[in-house]
Amino acid sequence: MGDNQAFNRTLAEIHNSLRFLADHGCRGFDCSGQSLAILEKWGKAPQYVCETLEDIAADLGDCRRCRLARERTSIVFGNGNSQARLVFVGEGPGFEEDRQGKPFVGAAGQLLSRIIEAIKLTRSQVYICNIIKCRPPGNRNPESDEINTCFPFLERQIAAIQPDFICALGTFAAQTLLKTATPISRLRGRFHQYQGIKVLPTYHPAYLLRNPAKKRDVWEDMKMLMKEYRYED
Ligand code: URA
Repeated sequence: MGDNQAFNRTLAEIHNSLRFLADHGCRGFDCSGQSLAILEKWGKAPQYVCETLEDIAADLGDCRRCRLARERTSIVFGNGNSQARLVFVGEGPGFEEDRQGKPFVGAAGQLLSRIIEAIKLTRSQVYICNIIKCRPPGNRNPESDEINTCFPFLERQIAAIQPDFICALGTFAAQTLLKTATPISRLRGRFHQYQGIKVLPTYHPAYLLRNPAKKRDVWEDMKMLMKEYRYED
């Protein structure tokens, strides 16, 4: 193993251990003998694989893990900045996304672009993806087994990007990430946590196209997001 590889492996091990502690609520370090002895008894931290988005896409391959593979044109993996501080998570590809293989490129996507501009960011600064990667026939809602099959890939994408913030767009994104059945109307408007990442649920842009009066709520959410985003800069 070359020096560079050994160094990278050591960094990855430190990263794994720190992430393990953070995931278990650690927000500081107590290095006393007593605490180290307790940690020793817990055993080894699980391995968090330091994989890239390319590794994950390669593993996904020409996915046939669920019935959505039959009618899709493209797998919509996600796109944007692989080191984004902010990730937008939508529901699943629609007609145009399926055609182009990119997330949020249809009418709802144009509105999302305007929302991103309104918070003084660009699409190339953030990462955009979905709970499921293939279009359900006729744009029906995703079934829970389809979500369960696809979600681990999104979890790995988020682990690879390590954003500070996730904006969950709509019911499916918010409920899946937060493992709750609480309606989006009660989840939005405040930050939640997913794996130590701040999650702000808000209404889906497609819902806003049908209910323009809700844009006011989304703007309130975006102002909250922008404030935290800049504060932590
Ligand atoms: N709606 C979504 O939830 N995702 C897309 O990519 C497009 C529309």
